[in-house]
Amino acid sequence: TSIFETVELAPRDPILGLTEQYNADTRTEKVNLGVGVYYDDQGRIPLLKAVQQAEAQRAQAAAPRGYLPIEGLAAYNKGAQTLLLGKDSAIIADGRALTVQTIGGTGALKIGADFLKQLSPNAKVVISNPSWENHRAIFERAGFVVENYPYYNPETHGLDFDGMVGALKALPKGTVVVLHACCHNPTGVDPTAAQWQEIAATVKNAGLVPFLDIAYQGFGDGLEQDASVVRLFADLGMTMLVSSSFSKSFSLYGERVGALTLICGSKDENARVLSQVKRVIRTNYSNPPTHGGTVVASVLNTPELYSLWVDELGEMRNRIRSMREQLVTKLKDHGVKQNFDFVMAQRGMFSYSGLTAAQVDALRNDHGVYAVSSGRICVAALNSRNIDYVVNAIAKVIG
Ligand code: PMP
Repeated sequence: TSIFETVELAPRDPILGLTEQYNADTRTEKVNLGVGVYYDDQGRIPLLKAVQQAEAQRAQAAAPRGYLPIEGLAAYNKGAQTLLLGKDSAIIADGRALTVQTIGGTGALKIGADFLKQLSPNAKVVISNPSWENHRAIFERAGFVVENYPYYNPETHGLDFDGMVGALKALPKGTVVVLHACCHNPTGVDPTAAQWQEIAATVKNAGLVPFLDIAYQGFGDGLEQDASVVRLFADLGMTMLVSSSFSKSFSLYGERVGALTLICGSKDENARVLSQVKRVIRTNYSNPPTHGGTVVASVLNTPELYSLWVDELGEMRNRIRSMREQLVTKLKDHGVKQNFDFVMAQRGMFSYSGLTAAQVDALRNDHGVYAVSSGRICVAALNSRNIDYVVNAIAKVIG
């Protein structure tokens, strides 16, 4: 008999499953808005010029591919940390921040989760309702009980601020709170600056452990602006964890570029924490890969490449904003009565469109337009060639 005889078939990933279905669809006008990827106006995943130049330099250098240190490349970690905290950060100067290179933002969450489980085995983890679907899975796999806090209000297409703050206040001390620092996935709904002040104060007063996830820095209002929530929490003196992903901002999805930053109480604490985080990494995958990290490090640390990257990131952000605008105006021009203005207030790649599961089904079946059943659409998959088709399809299914 096989040792695997009792293994059950796991459900397929809902979003990757949608892409499989899309790929099998033979209609030529099909559009995939179910993805979590930025496409340019030609519908391609861009290879940024800053990345191309850094890669050319790397190929030229023909450097050997030895192991990286467990914590990854120092120049990468410094660059990632500076993006979060700013180059004049007192926390960096005081030696209170440590950053390790990870296998994407997912790897940062996983290393952070394993470390926290070792530190506080009985703590509970809370995530927003809804959240990126892997948040729950990652923390549960690490052994935590995961619960939701209220976040999205479908009636207002906005934030359930009172519900959120009320729930946070009621949590036991030491609860780990996962927060999207900008560009909330899947809703696109972010708290305002004033709301963040109150959220941060609540987290601090309730003695909760903030775990900020920032996978879209630069896609909201800009690199600095999008880091403001991280800096707000840090400046309140909180000790915390931050997972960064450069998958989208560098358009390097497959290179698995991420970072985990921990803000500690002191320099001495920092050294002890680093030693433990390194153990977690060592027993997971030993050390991170070289290519993506080297490329990102040279962009972040070379002034010309950095400013080129900032411009390219700005273009991606502006293109998404323009697609949001066009979606809203074209739906209006099409005579759609339902108000979609809230799409303009949303940030990042996604929009909770307000489309019902039945409308999403009709979009897919009747028009070959794929969206997630929650109504989440990827605005970054819209372009000048498919937007009219998509608007027309939405208008038809809304009726
Ligand atoms: N956090 C959030 C909120 C995300 O949306 C994603 C990716 N879509 C990640 C983390 C993981 O990023 P990566 O692909 O770099 O692992």
